[in-house]
Amino acid sequence: MLRVGLTGGIGSGKSTAARALAALGATVVDADAVAREVVEPGTPALAAIAARFGPDVLAPDGSLDRPALGRLVFGDPAALRDLEGITHPAIWARTAELVAALPPDAVLVHDMPLLVEKSMAGEYHLVLVVGASEETRLRRLVTDRGMAEADARARIGAQADDPARRAAADVWLDNEGSREALDVAVRRLWHERLEPFAANLRTGTRSRLPAPVLCPPDAAWPEAARRLLARVRHAVGDAAVTLDHVGSTAVAGLPAKDVVDLQVGVRSLADADAPAFVDAMASMGFPRVGENTEDHGHDGTVWPKRFHGSADPARVAPVHVREVGSPGWEFALLFRDWLRAEGAERDAYAVVKADLAGRLATTEEYADAKEPWFSAAWPRAQEWARRTGWAPPVPPS
Ligand code: ADP
Repeated sequence: MLRVGLTGGIGSGKSTAARALAALGATVVDADAVAREVVEPGTPALAAIAARFGPDVLAPDGSLDRPALGRLVFGDPAALRDLEGITHPAIWARTAELVAALPPDAVLVHDMPLLVEKSMAGEYHLVLVVGASEETRLRRLVTDRGMAEADARARIGAQADDPARRAAADVWLDNEGSREALDVAVRRLWHERLEPFAANLRTGTRSRLPAPVLCPPDAAWPEAARRLLARVRHAVGDAAVTLDHVGSTAVAGLPAKDVVDLQVGVRSLADADAPAFVDAMASMGFPRVGENTEDHGHDGTVWPKRFHGSADPARVAPVHVREVGSPGWEFALLFRDWLRAEGAERDAYAVVKADLAGRLATTEEYADAKEPWFSAAWPRAQEWARRTGWAPPVPPS
């Protein structure tokens, strides 16, 4: 099942986008609705709240008196912690129940206002953020929803800011324009990305770049790598000893194919062969490719690895799984750090890449043709490591 996280600041148009996704066939789980449901009269959570905070938090009809409860927890961190200790487990349990009841081919959209604030991005295959400027949001909240301006400002101010949301967003749905424009953007996204992503997940298919087309350096690459690595961490936990963005897109200023290479360091390749690892990666959107793979090592030996790819049709992301401390693992980190440090080497490599990309038709031919340059450059990178004292970052055992 494809899990999509949907968020956005209050008044951005998140609910409007959720409705558009539902109309296309997504199943929307609304976090606010779940939060209300678990404290309805008769629920264990409401009883626990009344026991902790007293009968004054109940309205005459037995429902939760939210303003009264709000006054009790406002400015009292211990009380708020107690309240969340009651509501959060109930919310997660109900959400898990709703998700478990969905058919495997469902596209789940979790409408979650605090997704960024609660650092939940790594739990989803994709995070969509609906964005609009503060003035626009304020205007819509005040004129369309009849909110008092001071109230609207206070709510906006209490949430994450846009840079934090941008960093979490795989897709930024701009909602500065008309409702129709938002609807078109959502429909495009559904057909171009969400549907094919869900299909790739079902079949364990990774997306690939058809031809070696070089792009100018893009600051979005490291951001994308961070989001993908958070997903890998969420999927495999401590089995990943190191998690790194490697390859050309990890070197600022280097033109590259639009491919975000990731390296996962494991204690032993047996860890990466464990069914739990393979399955967790696949269901997080990183299906395994091939049984065993290897690189032709630049020391003349074979460097074994395991290999996964991204099922997201809009993000090619090979995941190289290597043993921590192995030559192939170290090579990927050394080259990245050397090219980051040595601008002249980086620029010389850019010339080689441009030449090859212009002459070769497929990414395989292109990858093979780059190998001699790497072999020739390796001694220079090693010399640089000796000179600077570079050592691969070995995490504490
Ligand atoms: P959120 O769920 O992010 O708080 P809503 O989807 O409820 O935001 O949108 C806030 C208000 O703005 C609603 O009244 C909605 O109908 C309106 N709205 C949403 N998108 C647009 C748009 N593109 N143009 C005009 N009004 C919009």
